[in-house]
Amino acid sequence: AAALVVPPAHAVAAAPYQDPSLPVPTRVADLMSRMSLDEKLGQMTQAERGSVSGSDVTTYRLGSVLSGGGSAPSPNTAASWADMYDSFQNAALATPLGIPMIYGVDAVHGHNNVGGATIFPHNIGLGATRDPALAQRIGRAVAEEVSGTGIDWNFAPCLCVARNDRWGRTYESFGETPDLPSSMSAIVTGLQGTALNAPASVLATAKHYLGDGGTTGGVDQGDAQISEADLRAVHLPPFRAAVERGVGSVMVSFSSWNGAKLHGHQYLITTVLKGELGFSGLVVSDWNGIDQIDGAAGTSALDVRTAVNAGIDMVMVPTAWRQFIDLLRAEVQAGRVTTARIDDANRRILTKKFELGLFEKPLTDRSYTATVGSAAHRALAREAVAKSQVVLKNSGNVLPLAATGGKIFVAGKSADNIGYQSGGWTISWQGSSGNITPGTSILQGIRNSAGSGTTVTYSQNGSGIDSSYRAAIAVVGETPYAEGQGDRPGSLGLDTADLNTLATLRASGVPVVVVLVSGRPLDIAAQLPGWNALVAAWLPGTEGQGVADVLFGAVQPSGKLPMTWMSSASQQPINSGDGKTPLFPYGFGLTYEPAQGDTSPPTTPGTPVAGAITSSSAGLTWPASTDNVGVTGYDVVRLQGTAETTVATPATASAAITGLTASTAYTFAVYARDAAGNRSPRSATVSVTTTGSGGGTGACSATPSTQSQWGNGYVIQVNVTNTGT
Ligand code: BGC
Repeated sequence: AAALVVPPAHAVAAAPYQDPSLPVPTRVADLMSRMSLDEKLGQMTQAERGSVSGSDVTTYRLGSVLSGGGSAPSPNTAASWADMYDSFQNAALATPLGIPMIYGVDAVHGHNNVGGATIFPHNIGLGATRDPALAQRIGRAVAEEVSGTGIDWNFAPCLCVARNDRWGRTYESFGETPDLPSSMSAIVTGLQGTALNAPASVLATAKHYLGDGGTTGGVDQGDAQISEADLRAVHLPPFRAAVERGVGSVMVSFSSWNGAKLHGHQYLITTVLKGELGFSGLVVSDWNGIDQIDGAAGTSALDVRTAVNAGIDMVMVPTAWRQFIDLLRAEVQAGRVTTARIDDANRRILTKKFELGLFEKPLTDRSYTATVGSAAHRALAREAVAKSQVVLKNSGNVLPLAATGGKIFVAGKSADNIGYQSGGWTISWQGSSGNITPGTSILQGIRNSAGSGTTVTYSQNGSGIDSSYRAAIAVVGETPYAEGQGDRPGSLGLDTADLNTLATLRASGVPVVVVLVSGRPLDIAAQLPGWNALVAAWLPGTEGQGVADVLFGAVQPSGKLPMTWMSSASQQPINSGDGKTPLFPYGFGLTYEPAQGDTSPPTTPGTPVAGAITSSSAGLTWPASTDNVGVTGYDVVRLQGTAETTVATPATASAAITGLTASTAYTFAVYARDAAGNRSPRSATVSVTTTGSGGGTGACSATPSTQSQWGNGYVIQVNVTNTGT
C-alpha cells in the first residue's frame, strides 16, 4: 500500500478550505481565491491513467484521472487498483494546495474493469426487471466495490433511450420508453448513497447527454434528426429524473442533434441542463469528444473554446491533456473564454470534491476492498439475473424444466462462456470470450439446478443429441461488442453457427428451449419457426445461475420486454406506440402456469366464523393483460385440495363469483388464456368485495382477502364470514 503523503510544509496549515466544519461554498470560494489560472486549468483536465504519471499529476495540477474501458493496473486485482489510486492521489496531494484528484471509471454493470468483480446484467436486463428498488440496491453494491478500489467517480448510468436496435449501445439502455430509464435512474441513488461523503459513496454520471439513443439509423455517435419536441419528450426525461435525484455529473454525448455536435451545444448544455433543469453538478465531455467539434482530427483551439463555452466543465482528454491545457490557457488569455466560465467550471468540480469528502479522506477506504466479488454481491446479481429473464414463448409448458429425472442436453456457443454472457465492457472495452473473470456459466447453473437426479450433457454445436433426451437447451446469441463496433446496419439475426446448432437439436425431435444471450432483440422470427420455448437472457454477467433459476422454475419469470421485439429487421426502428406489428410487444413476458393438480393450494387464512349469511358474492378484478399479446379471455378457477373448478370465463378483466356460502373459505386463481388454450397466471392484486345479506343483523363480508404465491402462480383467498349476529 502506498504511504500517506504528508502535505508539504508550505501548504496552508489551517486555511478555511481545509476546515470541514465550514459550509462547502465557503470552502470552495476560499480555495479558489488561492488558485492560479494554471491550477484552475489543471482542475478541468482529465487524463487517462496509461498516458499520465504521478509526477504529471503533481506538476500540471491535474484534476482528474480516468481508466478507459479495460484500462487496468497489473495485476488486475482490487488491491492493485487501490494501490494505483492511492499513488495518483498522493501525487495530487503533493501539490501546494493539496487538492485531491478525482478518479473516474466505467463501472457500468458492476466494477467491470476489475478482475474478480461482480458483473451484473447490462442495463437492458435491469430494465426488464421493472424494479427500481433492485437498481438502487445494485447501485449500492457497485459503489461498495468501486470504493474498495479507491475510485470516486462512476461514468454510469447510461440513461439513453435506445430507439433503434441497430445501435451498438442498445444494451446500455434500460429501455426504449422515456419512463423506464427515468424510473431505473434509482441506481443513481444507490451509487451516491445517503450522502456523497458517506462511506462507499461514488459520484454517478448520467450519460450521454442528449439523444444518443435517437440517432438516425441507430448509428453510434450519429445524428439525432428529431424535433425539439421529440428530443424533450423522449430523451430528456431520464436526465430530469437523475437531476432530481441529485446526480453529481452528466457526460455529454458524442452524437449530434440535427447536425450540431452535443460537445459544442451551449443551448442544450447550459440553457437546458444547467439552466432549465437546474443541474448544479459538473459536466464532463466524452473520450476525445471535443475533438469532433471542428470536424478535423486532433484537439484544436476551436474545439477547446467551443466545448468550454458550451458549458463543459471537465474535459476528458485521455492523451492530449498537455495540449488541451496550453490551448485553453491561450483562449483565456485572448479573452475568448472568460475567467468567469473557468471559475464556474472550477466551482462545480471542487464542490463535488468537497461534497465527496475527498479533502478529509483522500485515500482508499480499504474496508471495502473485500466487497469486490463478495458472496453477497454475487447473490444480488443472481437475483437480478433471474428477475431480468423474459420468457417469450413456452409451447406446451415445456418450461419450467423438472429438476429430477431424465437427461437434458445443453448446446450453443454462449452456454459455457463467462465472457459471452457478460458482453462488452467486461475486463476489456469490447469484452471477449472465455473465462475472463470468475463466475458461474449458464451451463454450470443448469448443472447445479438439475441436481444429481438429472444427467446434463453438453456439446457446443449440439452433436451427440438423440431422442433419449427430454429437452434440449440451446444458449445462443451475440458475441461481445461495445459502442460503434456493435452497430448492425445489416443483419440482426443469429449467425450461421447458432442456426446450425439449433438445426441439429431440432432434428433430434426433442423439445428445444432457446436461451438468447444478446444485447438487444434479434431478428429471429424467420430463423426460429419451430422453437418450443424462448427466453431472452440479455447479457446476464457473471452469475449465470440466475438464468437456470428461471429455467427450472426456482424463480417464477417476471421479466417484461424493455424493448419492442421486431418481426423483421426491416421494421427498425420499431418502438411501442408506433403502429408497427411486433413479434412481441414492449412489456411482453410470460409467467409459468402452476402444474395442474400437483400442488395443494395453501390452507385457508383464519377460521371461518359461523354465521347466518344466506347469500354472498365476490367481485374479482385484476389488471387487463396489456402486457400479453394474444389474450382471448380469462379463467377464474376455484381450488379445493387438488381439485380445480372453473367458476368464470370472463372476456374482460373482472368476474363476479356468486353463490358463495357462509362459513366457507374459498381459494381462487386467475389466468389469462390465449387462443390455443395456454394459460398464464395473473400476478395482479385482486380486490374482493361481497354483496349479499346476512341472515341476522349487520352485514356479511369476505375477509380476509389475500393473494399469495402458489407454485409458479398466485392464489386469491376469500374467507366468507358474517360480521353480523
Ligand atoms: C464512452 C463513454 C465512456 C468513456 C470513458 C467513451 O468511449 O462513450 O461511455 O464513459 O469512453 O471510458
